[in-house]
Amino acid sequence: MTMTRRNLLLASAGSAALAMFARPAVAALPRDADVVVIGAGAAGIAAARRVMAANRKVIVVEAGSAIGGRCLTETSTFGAPFDRGAHWLHAPDTNALIKMVRGAGLDLSPTPPGQRLRVGRRNARAGETEDLLTSLVRANRAIDDAARGKVDVSCAAALPKDLGPWTATIEFLLGPYAAGKDLRDLSALDLSRAQDRNSAVACRQGLGTLMAKLADGIPIALSTPATRIAWSGRDIGVETPAGRIAARAVIVTVSTNVLNAGAIKFAPEVPKRQLDAASRLGLGSYDHIALQLAGNPLGLSREEMLIEQSSDARTALLAANIDGSSLCTVDVGGSFGRDLSAQGEAAMVEFATEWLVKLFGSDVSAAVKKSAATQWNAAPFVQGAMSAASPGGQPARRVLAEPLGPLFFAGEATHETLWGTVDGAWDSGERAAEAALKRIGALKSDEPAPPPRQPKKQQRQRPPPRDASAGWPGSR
Ligand SMILES: Cc1cc2nc3c(=O)[nH]c(=O)nc-3n(C[C@H](O)[C@H](O)[C@H](O)COP(=O)(O)OP(=O)(O)OC[C@H]3O[C@@H](n4cnc5c(N)ncnc54)[C@H](O)[C@@H]3O)c2cc1C
Repeated sequence: MTMTRRNLLLASAGSAALAMFARPAVAALPRDADVVVIGAGAAGIAAARRVMAANRKVIVVEAGSAIGGRCLTETSTFGAPFDRGAHWLHAPDTNALIKMVRGAGLDLSPTPPGQRLRVGRRNARAGETEDLLTSLVRANRAIDDAARGKVDVSCAAALPKDLGPWTATIEFLLGPYAAGKDLRDLSALDLSRAQDRNSAVACRQGLGTLMAKLADGIPIALSTPATRIAWSGRDIGVETPAGRIAARAVIVTVSTNVLNAGAIKFAPEVPKRQLDAASRLGLGSYDHIALQLAGNPLGLSREEMLIEQSSDARTALLAANIDGSSLCTVDVGGSFGRDLSAQGEAAMVEFATEWLVKLFGSDVSAAVKKSAATQWNAAPFVQGAMSAASPGGQPARRVLAEPLGPLFFAGEATHETLWGTVDGAWDSGERAAEAALKRIGALKSDEPAPPPRQPKKQQRQRPPPRDASAGWPGSR
């Protein structure tokens, strides 16, 4: 049945052909800049825009061949935009990016109609859906209660033990779906502090398209990985295969897994405090398996989301008929999703097809016309999906964001409440840029945050508390 809970929307998924927003690399890498930004994802783009708004010289170095990082829209495979990474923008009242969609000449997708719960081959009865929602609220309250304790525990330890037939479904919603990790690997405090993510809208042309538009005019050197950052005293420089850039401040926005892998060398080494923080914020696993299903064999409406009453971790979330197209995505995450994606695209498509056949019957197999699957764990410049603190690891977010002289870390992992989101990454990039500008004397320490952020009143307000039914599809 269709859910009617207030503000429920989707929350994951994507659509298809790498509309590689590749642009020619900057003609020649500059030898110096006021600020060097490492990474052209949401955080890096936001940081660069902020530095440019203060009339300071910035250069972004990006290891990959496209702009957007984990916001990557492909348009060729399915003839419709396929967001291979992030798709949803949450919290329309406070999310500055949503307001930028129209400003960039793009469109917002209409709000999805609702969610379905499947019990085997049939839709759930009203009472079953109510039962799941009640159990989900209980699970969230238990996690919030545990988060108020003296010692941070895992979400698994906090979960009520009497969730009965909804146990595996709730474990999926609050773990792999919400954060890309199983509940035993997730800090109760981190999940409890996550800002309410109910209400989501999508950019019809894709979030990768939006990021490319927002990066317009920023000097970005693509296919130019930072390999070493020398940051002793006043002498800070970024080394790349194309040359060295001297800077007054450097903002590093790469994912925690890229940091943990030691892909960028630091001289001197980053203090253990920060290294430990990054290691406690490792990325979870979350992937989209995209299927083009001819003739709407599932009988679902535009952008409907569906979960099942599952009995184990081999489960997923369906986003159907994305933006009215025949493109559907089956999302997998956590340790099950990680193992599956390691088996390759064919195994992922096979799982997604079999899962839909189990829920809707064998007609689904014949309806699959095209398929694709993401494998974010294997993407060399990201190595996972979104950061999620291990038990006891929540304070690491603040630690990672602490400036180290002229060196600043940003990115979704550094946001205490909006971690794992695009708007969290964006906000972190703006904050790091403001701190860097203050460091180089381009912004007085008491100067308020200037444009392009807007509206100011909403941006500094307290984050809305986590919804009691957080985790329900649409509230990632
Ligand atoms: C499948 C999936 C679904 C998701 N769904 C949603 C969603 O619906 N809504 C939502 O809000 N969020 C979602 N997220 C999370 C969201 O995508 C991220 O939180 C956000 O995009 C992270 O932005 P970032 O700038 O912090 O990092 P990134 O996007 O990872 O940007 C970092 C950049 O640094 C570059 N880089 C790495 N190493 C180097 C180097 N050595 N030198 C130079 N550059 C380097 C990378 O190539 C990358 O472009 C999803 C993520 C995934 C994977």
